[in-house]
Amino acid sequence: MQAQRSRPAQVRRVMAGHRWVGAALVELGLGANDRRAEHAARTGRHVFSPGTRIDVLEVYCADCRAPYTTSADEPCPKRASSRAG
Ligand SMILES: [Zn+2]
Repeated sequence: MQAQRSRPAQVRRVMAGHRWVGAALVELGLGANDRRAEHAARTGRHVFSPGTRIDVLEVYCADCRAPYTTSADEPCPKRASSRAG
């Protein structure tokens, strides 16, 4: 039995940090007849099958573009807000 409770202190810490996203390359097939490439070019989207594994090339903050490797322990300058106390 699991009880899910909100934890305001953790939420506050996350909100002050970076918002990490991963940049990845998605293989969309070969040649001119692959419908995945045509669909992605037309819609700007690609839907993965469940369980698909992708390679992440870079992890960075969506808000300030800081790379995870050098900025993981720092607050996000774009998301920083005045701290209570
Ligand atoms: Zn950031």
